[in-house]
Amino acid sequence: MTKPNEMTVSEAARALRARDISVQELWDACVLASHERNQELNAFLEIFEADKAAVAAAQKRIDTEGETAPLLAGIPLAIKDNILIEGKVASAASKMLENYRATYDATVVKKLKEAGALFLGRTNMDEFAMGSSTEHSAYGTTKNPRDTRRVPGGSSGGSAAAVAAHLALAALGSDTGGSIRQPAAHTGIVGLKPTYGSVSRSGLIAMGSSLDQVGPLAKTVEDARLIYEAIAGQDPLDATTIPPGLCPARPMKKPMRIGVPRHLIGEGVDPDIRAAFSATLDALADAGHTLTDIELPMSHHALAAYYVIMPAEVSTNLARLDGIRYGLAQRGDTLLDDYLLSRTSGFGEETRRRILLGTFVLSSGYIDAYYRKADAARAVLRKEYADAFDKVDAIVFPTTPSPAFAFGEKSDPLAMYLEDIFTVTANLTGMPALSVPMGFVERDGASLPVGMHITAPHGAEDTLFSLGAEVEKERRA
Ligand code: GLN
Repeated sequence: MTKPNEMTVSEAARALRARDISVQELWDACVLASHERNQELNAFLEIFEADKAAVAAAQKRIDTEGETAPLLAGIPLAIKDNILIEGKVASAASKMLENYRATYDATVVKKLKEAGALFLGRTNMDEFAMGSSTEHSAYGTTKNPRDTRRVPGGSSGGSAAAVAAHLALAALGSDTGGSIRQPAAHTGIVGLKPTYGSVSRSGLIAMGSSLDQVGPLAKTVEDARLIYEAIAGQDPLDATTIPPGLCPARPMKKPMRIGVPRHLIGEGVDPDIRAAFSATLDALADAGHTLTDIELPMSHHALAAYYVIMPAEVSTNLARLDGIRYGLAQRGDTLLDDYLLSRTSGFGEETRRRILLGTFVLSSGYIDAYYRKADAARAVLRKEYADAFDKVDAIVFPTTPSPAFAFGEKSDPLAMYLEDIFTVTANLTGMPALSVPMGFVERDGASLPVGMHITAPHGAEDTLFSLGAEVEKERRA
């Protein structure tokens, strides 16, 4: 039998129901693996003690409700350190919130608790979710379990590493410009950025509020779907959540019309990633789907628009961490000193860079030149995608231009920002997007996973799960 921690969520749910394993055994296997590997990987900032009452309650539900018990009952999950769990530290991997303890559960956590899921620990990330490598954490880097000389991607790198190394069965991450999909691609797992507003942001430490979504990192598309369904839904605590039935229903067609923006997949993408992408497209065509070339000319401006809008929202959201109300507090001679000292010692370099950029693009002399232009570009991009979805059911490209890179390789911030070239659009348009493994490439004697990125219209997560499952099957075969 597969070791319990190496199972997928669906396999573990089946094994629990068949009484091949108990909830306690599954928990113990994950905790043991986590303690064994965490020294090396630094995936977790904290591994929690067992919540004995929750373990017993999950076992009881499986025993009494049997097949009708929620599939997540008794499943140990890892939670990104920017998602609140009542009573636990939530530091967003920042010195600023080192001692901040959550006073309430994020809605996603509350929903997972109701489904009987267990929480294994909080995972490392780039500070306040800003980064593509997890190198910007105030608590050390996380290593990629596929090749420990390399980054796991970011900012949800700890969650991705925990799942890829079989420490947790699945995890939650957050995605503002790619932070679920990019680390999923770099560690060979599945990551979903849900439709904006389909999952509550209540209890997620905000980065860019018009872009942020919580979503699953999982070993399979099926597991990602299970977790998505458990956490989705309108929430009175988040006014941006979508009421049921608001997204136009799109009947799932099979075969599908798949849009391929070939003009975007040029020189900037490593040749072997392009080859893996072509091979995956061939397999989808062989399976009967129609491939259609599409043009998305505005995509060339997506990254620039993102790196104006996101820091603007970051500067606003992080203004509350001022050394007075909560978080790290340093005292100087004047109130201004208090702000300066607290914010300079509490925030890391990348966070400070983005706060400065954000206040600049919102300042009265520059808001027209930068912020308003970026916002207009965002509207055009959204229209361009909406028009494309009149002709196709899904749009595909590689998740990243290159595989996981070595530590320090992208120390130039602009080189790091280029990592997000394919992922930011889904956040700017609010559309759902999935990264699913599409093969491997060789670097320095290591075989590194690469991902296919699938975007669908608002509310069409089912399209992603259906096509994602086919890619998964093709690439495994
Ligand atoms: N890598 C992107 C950034 O640095 C995305 C971050 C995210 O999705 N949280 O902003």
